[in-house]
Amino acid sequence: MQDAHQGCISMPFYKGGDLDAWIRDNPFADLATRRRIAIGLLYGLHDLHSRGSVHCDIKPKNIFLAPSLSPVLGDFDGVQMHDVTMTQPLQTPIKYMAPELLRDEVVDKIEPAVDMFSVSVRPTALEALHHEAFQVEPVKEASCAICLNVYPADEGVSCADGHFTCKKCLGHSVRAAAQPDAHVNFLRNGNMCCVASDCELLITGHSNATAVPEDFANWLNIVRKHFERDAAAEQERQLQLRLDAALREHGLNPTTQNYLHTIQDSVLVMSCPRCSTAF
Ligand SMILES: [Zn+2]
Ligand SMILES: [Zn+2]
Ligand SMILES: [Zn+2]
Repeated sequence: MQDAHQGCISMPFYKGGDLDAWIRDNPFADLATRRRIAIGLLYGLHDLHSRGSVHCDIKPKNIFLAPSLSPVLGDFDGVQMHDVTMTQPLQTPIKYMAPELLRDEVVDKIEPAVDMFSVSVRPTALEALHHEAFQVEPVKEASCAICLNVYPADEGVSCADGHFTCKKCLGHSVRAAAQPDAHVNFLRNGNMCCVASDCELLITGHSNATAVPEDFANWLNIVRKHFERDAAAEQERQLQLRLDAALREHGLNPTTQNYLHTIQDSVLVMSCPRCSTAF
């Protein structure tokens, strides 16, 4: 459909790549994920068929994957209307091509069953969707409040109001929180203020730790060091106060003053000159 009289179909670029690459790169993908992709594909075909079109070139290379692994049909070059004579040669690999298209004769009637052969089933897409193999709980999806991409809801963290942050953006946030003067609001116990601008709810440190364990452990380490440094500084301040009070009280006695100075030197210098952590 690239003719000037017919217009063209433009599609977003799918970073998830195509199903062909996904199958190659994920040989051990779990059944639920495979099933989810198959269901998405059947819904897409059902939608196309119910609009009177047949794709005619269903193969993994023509199925793109959104970040949530929702499949998206692509390459509409070979799309035919129902019941028309086949006008274009097909690029489909033989293993995905319906037998009626392989016969050495003009195909005078394109049926949706052509696409269904390519996905290994011959009932209609809707009938296939009703098969028990595809009766699964729909996966809850959520749009990330930071990057706006859609992910399965368990691939990130959410506040009680359902504001969702994907793992990638959460990782960025946790790393940002570890910087001095961080703009990201993390509490010392690992709880995080929800990223939605008008939301006061918290996301627990536990869910943060589960979602991005490495970044979180790193952040925790930094917080612990800060805490130790603050505690040491406070300890030193208390000691200094007591020494000052003692000096005031015994200010006129040079022996006591000398004695206190010795304590001051030997005790108070015993801390790191850079960060004041007590040795
Ligand atoms: Zn995100
Ligand atoms: Zn929220
Ligand atoms: Zn130090």
